[in-house]
Amino acid sequence: MKSKSFSLAMVFAIGFMAFAQAQQKEIKLPPEATEFWEPEPRVVTPGAENHLPPSDAIIIFDGKNLDNFKSLKTGGAAEWTVADGILTVKPGTGDILTKEAFGDVQIHLEFSAPTEIKGQSQGRGNSGLLIMERYEVQVLDSYENRTYSNGQAASIYKQYPPLVNAMRKPGEWNTYDVFFTAPRFNADGMVISPAKVTVIHNGVLVQNAREIKGPTEYIGIPNYKAHDAELPFKLQDHGDLVKFRNIWVRKL
Ligand code: MG
Repeated sequence: MKSKSFSLAMVFAIGFMAFAQAQQKEIKLPPEATEFWEPEPRVVTPGAENHLPPSDAIIIFDGKNLDNFKSLKTGGAAEWTVADGILTVKPGTGDILTKEAFGDVQIHLEFSAPTEIKGQSQGRGNSGLLIMERYEVQVLDSYENRTYSNGQAASIYKQYPPLVNAMRKPGEWNTYDVFFTAPRFNADGMVISPAKVTVIHNGVLVQNAREIKGPTEYIGIPNYKAHDAELPFKLQDHGDLVKFRNIWVRKL
């Protein structure tokens, strides 16, 4: 009797070890596993508009210099190109991030896809606004450029496609007005409330109070990790000559 219960215990122990090992093994998904292509957001042609900063805005980029940014790579001065009031990605220099940190925030920026159309899908005019360094509102040339829906311009990358495609032609200026509520964590690092984001693209509502599922992941499922209540936002160097101008924020 004694030896029978012992061997039964051994069987359970071995079984549990095998199970624990399987749990530990990282399941490798290809990046395509988290793309979805249907439905495709329909095209909406935006009206003409111009957004100048309101009186309480914190100006991040006014066309003159990159004093309010630093380089993610070096921690030193941001190395993107500033000319004629326009900020252009300098491929290879890496992402740039704001010196100031933000929690709940309204962000306005304008961007223009490169006029020389190169590449396709994710390879055309790719950049990104990474709020709190990790929640990406995609910047892409989505004018007549099909890619996965949850990866096109104004998507919450790999999480939510925009409600519609309000993209202007390459060389024309697009506006993003982003209203972001930072996630809250308890002392144990558990999410109390996820991040929420609303995005208006060229005056058209494209993300309506979306609950962000976690930090943007190129591969795999997002999962929150506790972080500071205020963090900088980044603009992404994805190797394309995307232009920016008129970047300002309001702390909420
Ligand atoms: Mg991007």
